[in-house]
Amino acid sequence: MPEYAPAFRGPIDLHTHSSASDGTETPYNVVRSAKEAGLQAVALTDHDTTAGWASATAAAHDFEITLIPGMELSTRLDHASIHLLSYLFDPANPALLAETETIRDARLKRAEQIVARIGRDYDLTWQDVLAQTTAGATVGRPHIADALVAKGLAETRSQAFQGILHWRAGYFQPHYAPTPLVGVQLVVAAGGVPVLAHPGTRRDRVIPEVRLRKLVDAGLFGLEIEHRQNTPDAKELLHELATKYGLAVTGSSDYHGEGKPNRLGENTTSPEVLSQIVERATGTTPVYPVPASGSAPAGDAVAHTP
Ligand code: AMP
Ligand code: FE
Ligand code: FE
Ligand code: ZN
Repeated sequence: MPEYAPAFRGPIDLHTHSSASDGTETPYNVVRSAKEAGLQAVALTDHDTTAGWASATAAAHDFEITLIPGMELSTRLDHASIHLLSYLFDPANPALLAETETIRDARLKRAEQIVARIGRDYDLTWQDVLAQTTAGATVGRPHIADALVAKGLAETRSQAFQGILHWRAGYFQPHYAPTPLVGVQLVVAAGGVPVLAHPGTRRDRVIPEVRLRKLVDAGLFGLEIEHRQNTPDAKELLHELATKYGLAVTGSSDYHGEGKPNRLGENTTSPEVLSQIVERATGTTPVYPVPASGSAPAGDAVAHTP
């Protein structure tokens, strides 16, 4: 346990993206924005990378907000892409590091292939897409969307997703990802706490119960039920499953900066659930808004950079 662990009181948002993956703000600025939005705690959960943790940590100290280091791990079950939010795992765990590197490589090659296909019909090159990414970022379709916007081939990211990037448009291709079960096992083995991200975007796409049971047995902690993309009828089913299997319920924004309409704090997680996550995790600890050596409450003798 850290020396100084303040009680959580909220509001708490456990799902955000920065330019380390497909968000539009730097990790530092995501944390700054979280403070400005009035959050007490924010998790940075970039896709398949922890590259943003260091500067998010600096921002947590500078702006006096609690940071929950996290990640959104890509997994795949047959044809369905399933995202696994993962909190407070050891970022140096060799197996998890190796797997996320494999996924990022696969994402990069897959993006190049999608762009090559689009390039047959539209004026779009791989260079255009690279111009929309920061060095080392996890590459995804949002970066291709940004390139399409820059080239005048789409109005916005969302419009690009509804058009050229939609799987029905014929350019889509999936990328390699481990199964959700392997994902849960990797995160748990790294001391982390796994939560299924936006698991109810359609009621008929909620993970089959027999599969969910296996994830629970492997250490799945919760379901992100409060998320704008979950439908009302899927949420109802998910609440039943959460009760039946003793899963925690989380709520989050899935903030991507200007890349999506989702606003910080539009959905939140209870202080009780965050406390359970912190107690359960053994990989790393939250970044609290006081120096590690201090025991003073936040606000006393803390260097503050506006
Ligand atoms: P990918 O992982 O490369 O297949 O791209 C999926 C990512 O694109 C997800 O992380 C979403 O956050 C993002 N995304 C999906 N739909 C949209 C949309 N309509 N507008 C903006 N971003 C989107
Ligand atoms: Fe994303
Ligand atoms: Fe996701
Ligand atoms: Zn996300």
